[in-house]
Amino acid sequence: MKCAACKHDMVKKGGEIDLRIGGKLYLVRNVFYEECPSCGEKVLLPEISEILFKKIKNKEFVEQMINVPVLDGTYC
Ligand SMILES: [Zn+2]
Repeated sequence: MKCAACKHDMVKKGGEIDLRIGGKLYLVRNVFYEECPSCGEKVLLPEISEILFKKIKNKEFVEQMINVPVLDGTYC
């Protein structure tokens, strides 16, 4: 697959990826995705995102409390 942003060849990777769907942030673990080594763009394979969307719809996830560092860029 080629990167939609910079046309670089993407590299298959596995691990964690975050998804923002409907204003909610989901963390997906142990998933395969493709990452652009040039700009860092991450893309899920269509069949995998379809499965993930189904899981979200059927609420097949666990709600976990994780600490997310939040930064304020107002005065940068
Ligand atoms: Zn790219």
